[in-house]
Amino acid sequence: MNFKKDSRRSKNQNKNEQKKVLDKCYREFARINRKFFDAQLPTPVIALNQRFTARAGAFYPRTKRIALSWKYYLAWGLKELLGVLRHEVGHLALPKEGHSRKFKELLEKLDAPRYSKPFSKHPFRYEWECPNCGVKHWTRKRVVLACGKCCDRYNRGHFARNFQLQLVKELRPRRPPSKHL
Ligand SMILES: [Zn+2]
Ligand SMILES: [Zn+2]
Repeated sequence: MNFKKDSRRSKNQNKNEQKKVLDKCYREFARINRKFFDAQLPTPVIALNQRFTARAGAFYPRTKRIALSWKYYLAWGLKELLGVLRHEVGHLALPKEGHSRKFKELLEKLDAPRYSKPFSKHPFRYEWECPNCGVKHWTRKRVVLACGKCCDRYNRGHFARNFQLQLVKELRPRRPPSKHL
């Protein structure tokens, strides 16, 4: 089975999505800063890291920077990523505490997870279907793909939006959290 990729379109889409996600991250930071810290925390630089595959997020105390994994976002979505952000904000608020009891109490207050979910142990998160021939396909990430068979048969092998795979459902992995954040 082969699938056609609309690479240029998905690259632009990716960029837009990253901008939106970062915007939500800054808003979330501002919200918890007001709610729990009297807006006294300095706003960190928040970045999306494209290469993090083993950790969902990191806080760098020297530069007060927070990095969040884009791949983790792709695997688990915004809600989970914002949880990771709150965890890292916990480190920003208590930079010398590590994962102490005090830190864990703060995490509870912030409704932040102690551990991140596994990155890629669950094989599939999304189920897709070709709107033309009904062939099914499963992926870990949100993708822009068209049915290879239909593109070959009706569009000389080029990507055609008519045959773009449609999301049928989101599968919820049910593995326990595993990684230290
Ligand atoms: Zn098809
Ligand atoms: Zn941590």
